[in-house]
Amino acid sequence: MTTGISAVWHDSDQTFELRELPVPEVEPGGVSIRVLRTSVCGSDLHIWRGDGIAKDAPPRDPFVFGHEMMGEVAALGKGVDTDSLRRPLKEGDRVVFSYFFPCMKCYNCIRGEMGACKFRMGRKPLDEYPYCNGGFAQYYYLRPQQNFLFKLPDDVSDEEAAPINCALAQVIDALHVGRVKFGDNVVVQGAGGLGVNAMAVARDMGANKVIAIDGQPARLDLAMRSGATDTININDFPTPEARIEAVMELTDGIGADIAIELVGFPAAVEEGVQMVRQRGTYLEVGHISPHSYASIDVQQIVSKQIRLFGIQHYDPWILPAAIEFLRRNRDRYAVCDVVSDVFPMTQIGEAFAKAEWQGQASNKITRAVIAP
Ligand SMILES: [Zn+2]
Ligand SMILES: [Zn+2]
Repeated sequence: MTTGISAVWHDSDQTFELRELPVPEVEPGGVSIRVLRTSVCGSDLHIWRGDGIAKDAPPRDPFVFGHEMMGEVAALGKGVDTDSLRRPLKEGDRVVFSYFFPCMKCYNCIRGEMGACKFRMGRKPLDEYPYCNGGFAQYYYLRPQQNFLFKLPDDVSDEEAAPINCALAQVIDALHVGRVKFGDNVVVQGAGGLGVNAMAVARDMGANKVIAIDGQPARLDLAMRSGATDTININDFPTPEARIEAVMELTDGIGADIAIELVGFPAAVEEGVQMVRQRGTYLEVGHISPHSYASIDVQQIVSKQIRLFGIQHYDPWILPAAIEFLRRNRDRYAVCDVVSDVFPMTQIGEAFAKAEWQGQASNKITRAVIAP
């Protein structure tokens, strides 16, 4: 039996353990992936910190996480000889794929809302087939009939491709839902991996101003190279009132047409909804941890007629569109420079420690990537 190494996370002592797990025998219709790159996404940092988990909660069972990844086809199940666009596919081809598995036969799926499937398959215990279902591992398994995978062109490198299936796809979906229009002014709260991608996508969709808000100078610098037209450094504008005022000034007192929240702290929502104009749109993406309560004057949402959307996952068409977005914009924006550091799997603990930005005055890592 072939095996592959997975980085198994233990809540009990807050460490990763490198463990050999079986590589699944591929079922008809399934695809086994040899993972080449997996990034440390902001939501991985939430899991690693234990954000949203009660202090007295028992440790979770050891598990493998990581979802922002790309790889090459290790084995094709019977009946699979093309990608999801009917292009010939063989072992060794580099691919991107969605990291969630819609059931394809529920109320939402039959409406084409695969990203909203409530029955999508979750993580399985480590001793249960197919064993490999986390991204910080050498192998990952795409389940039959529930997978969407797309061949990567040669000119997109592994590092460039890793953030496609989460950071890039997620913000494309959000800005598509929010309907960025030609000439819109857009606020992006948070200039991490999702943030800088959102800035470039907003500009590509025709945004006029893109205002980046963050507290890390290196991120704001990358933001300016990734399509932001203006930045608000929270160290220079230390209060929500000052930041809201700064947005108003940059938009001639009108407010942003669209603001997108990619920080994942409730206070960001409290101030962000005040940055949008009358009948503006607020896109909430960042909060993936439970118990994220914000205090908002709902009357303001009503009287300002704010369009508020919660966004998670995406529909499959976004992935090939994201690949083409990268090829179209890589010379224009620094979106391909988001990945700043590559670590071998043996240094995954170090990669997380270095990627941690909370409580750091300055963190030069914009996206850490593991090469399993
Ligand atoms: Zn992610
Ligand atoms: Zn479904």
